[in-house]
Amino acid sequence: MRIAVYPGSFDPVTNGHLDIILRAAELFDRVIVAVSCNPKKKPLFTIEERVEILREVLAPYKNVEVGSFEGLTVNFCRKVGARALIRGLRAISDFEREFQMALTNKKLMPELETVFLMAKAEYSFLSSSMVKELAYYGGCVDQFVPPLVEKKLREKYR
Ligand code: ADP
Repeated sequence: MRIAVYPGSFDPVTNGHLDIILRAAELFDRVIVAVSCNPKKKPLFTIEERVEILREVLAPYKNVEVGSFEGLTVNFCRKVGARALIRGLRAISDFEREFQMALTNKKLMPELETVFLMAKAEYSFLSSSMVKELAYYGGCVDQFVPPLVEKKLREKYR
């Protein structure tokens, strides 16, 4: 069975992330969306909230699961037996950091392949931070996130 892990902050999940997840689900037998607990970042949503939102949004997709992890992504990949690590690429600005991470991960776990999927054109400018900023100022985010996320953002910023 070909297992892929898609790690990220997902604070919160956007339509750009969802597009990558569904495309990965066509390529792999199982996709595990892994919410990373990065103590250096100050998230808006807790790990539990992010996992719960993702589980609800991804419930219709039977080969997609949601988990969370702390520490190195490669350790999580080893634990679940993943062959591939999925990352989404938006602009050139993503490239340098992603390239660095992919090369580091290759050193740490040579048998793990990082697979980059290019962002869909209409989502190539979309990020969780942009969505949060927009929601904070009362802007409409319904074309960028699933309805559940829109509702949760409204509750947070009420
Ligand atoms: P991280 O903190 O690991 O970058 P993110 O939740 O910001 O977590 O992103 C997770 C992954 O999804 C990254 O590979 C990122 O480049 C990708 N990604 C984020 N937004 C989009 C988007 N709009 N379209 C495609 N990929 C995206």
